[in-house]
Formats: sequence, structure tokens, C-alpha cells
Amino acid sequence: MFFYDGPVSQAVSFEGLLHNGEKFIDRLLTAFSSERGRSELVHVVTDGEVYGHHHARGEMALAFALEQIESRGLARITNYGEFLEKHPPISEVQIVENSSWSCAHGVDRWRRHCGCHSGRADWSQEWRAHLRDAMDWLRDEVAERYERKAVELVKNAWAARDDYIQVLLDGSDESWTRFRCRHASRVLSLAEEKTLAELLELERHAMLMYTSCGWFFDDSSGIETRQVIGHAARVVELAEALFHKNLESPLLERLERAKSNISEHGNGRTMYEKLVKGRCTATAHGDGAGREPEHWLNVLVNDLTEQFRTSGEMTFETMERVLQQRKEAYRRDLETARRMYRTYPRLFEENREARTSRAAGV
Ligand SMILES: [Zn+2]
Repeated sequence: MFFYDGPVSQAVSFEGLLHNGEKFIDRLLTAFSSERGRSELVHVVTDGEVYGHHHARGEMALAFALEQIESRGLARITNYGEFLEKHPPISEVQIVENSSWSCAHGVDRWRRHCGCHSGRADWSQEWRAHLRDAMDWLRDEVAERYERKAVELVKNAWAARDDYIQVLLDGSDESWTRFRCRHASRVLSLAEEKTLAELLELERHAMLMYTSCGWFFDDSSGIETRQVIGHAARVVELAEALFHKNLESPLLERLERAKSNISEHGNGRTMYEKLVKGRCTATAHGDGAGREPEHWLNVLVNDLTEQFRTSGEMTFETMERVLQQRKEAYRRDLETARRMYRTYPRLFEENREARTSRAAGV
């Protein structure tokens, strides 16, 4: 556990310390204390966008400070890993549970109208509790079903969910294969692999819908809150496909209670409906989105086969181009399409071969 320098961090973020690189260096250096008689780590914790976005040219002040500190030998630049290795912990600390730096009421900022806001003191944040209630309900509804279905395919449903991040970070075909080898409880058919991938996606969105900034700001109509509602919509959609369970209506009843302070924005339900409708308009009848992944995979394969026939090449770039051309239709599932392409090369191959042979009259 490293404790950052609060006052200097505050000065960097909010008091214009980055306006002058020399002052920034001085302030950092004065944070060292010769009285402590041991190696010291001086560090600040700020948002990354402070350097250049909130404070124009702040990144230059940072670069200047690092360069000067190093070249003039004012201090040694290190990182946490190295410092920890050279200086093992000297005290034991206990974390105050359910506390945060940005809410004086513990973690209430993420669950109720605690009074913390980012400017609109006169607005109500009652919506936070209702939004959380809606998400908690949805999470619990899908968790049990996820587990029941996933244990038919993998050894441990929750270990697989946690490890799925490796596939997302890597993104290669091999990473999925390795993942499958680590977790599958037996040999899986292609259809089962697809189910597994969808189950994992469902859980991924169920975690993303808890992105903390969804609760942080003043109103439920903010882009951050709409974003988490969007993830909930994807959970609903996948749950419908996987479990044949309609969770939308009960979720909307809950979201409806999350009222915006701006009357024209309505409430969580209207935001959900706007989001989902916005994503589906081009595609509700006939195109890929809103259908079984199988359906749009076929549409995609058709497009790509056409491309293959005319150009004789089938590369990732080709697929990107086709996807771009059909961006509207695929908008909501663009990301999934990419993953499917990487995840199901065999299915893709089989489909392609079958279509190519059919086209060639074989
Ligand atoms: Zn608070």
C-alpha cells in the first residue's frame, strides 16, 4: 500500500501547479523530509487527463520535471515495483472498509443521495439508489442462470469468468484456445463454444454496468449513466438469447424510478428505451443486430464471401472494410463481430468453404 501526497496531488489537479515546471519540481522536492531518516517515496495521484486536458501543456510540465529531476540528480525516478522490492513494508495498515477519496460519506456516492455532487447542489441524486437497485436485481437474476449453464461447459463458472479477461486483452485465436483448454470440463462442440463465449460476454457486460462513473455525477441523464444502462441492455439481450428469459420489463420498472433532474430526459426507462431503439432502428427487421449471433454471422459470411470471390483475398483488413461499409447495420454488434471472427475461425472456415464450393457449383 502506497500513500500518496495529498496536498501536492491537490495542487497538481486543482491549484495550477503544472503552470510552471520549476515550481512543480520545487514542490515535489519539498515533500521529502530529512527527519524521517529512511528512503522516501514522493508521489502524487491524479487523473491522467490532468496533464494536457484539464491543464493545457501540463504534460510538458510533467516531462520537464521528470527530465530535470533525473538529469540534475535531484532525486531518483523509480516505480512502485522497484521501490517495493528495495524497501519492504515497514508498517501494517488496516483499510477502512467502504471508504473512498471522492465521497465524504464512505461509498454512498455510488448508492444514494449523499449530498456529494459535481456542481449542481440543488439537484437530487435519489436516482442513484434506484439505478443501483435495478443493476443489483439484474446482476442477481443472471448470475444464477449463468452459473447453472456455465458449469455444463467449464470446471468453474466464476474462475472462467475472471480469467476471460486474458482472452479480451490478448484477442488472438490462440488466446481463446488456451482459455478453452484451461477451463472446459470436456471437449466442447462449436455450438457449445459459442454458448460459452456468449455467457462470458453476458457476465462481462454485467460487470461493466457497474462502471463507477455511472453513479458519480449529478444526474441520471449523464453520458456515464447512459453508458451503464447500455451495458444492462446488452445483458438483457444476451439473457434472452441464452436463457429464454425476458428480464426487460422488470428491469424497466426499476429503471423508471431513476428520475432525471432534467424533465425532458425522463428517467432510466426512457434512457434505456432511447438507447436500445437508437441502436436497433436500422436493423430491427432483417439485419444482424438484435438477432441471434448465428444470424448476423451468416450475413457477415455472405458479405465476406462476396468480397472473397471478387478480390480473391480474405484478410482481417477485408473484413474491417466490409464491416465499415455496413456499419449502420452492424453498429451494435461490431465489437462482437470482431470477437466472433477471432473466436470461431473454424466455423468461419467451414461456412466459407461450403459457400465457395456452392458458388463454384461443386
Ligand atoms: Zn458523499
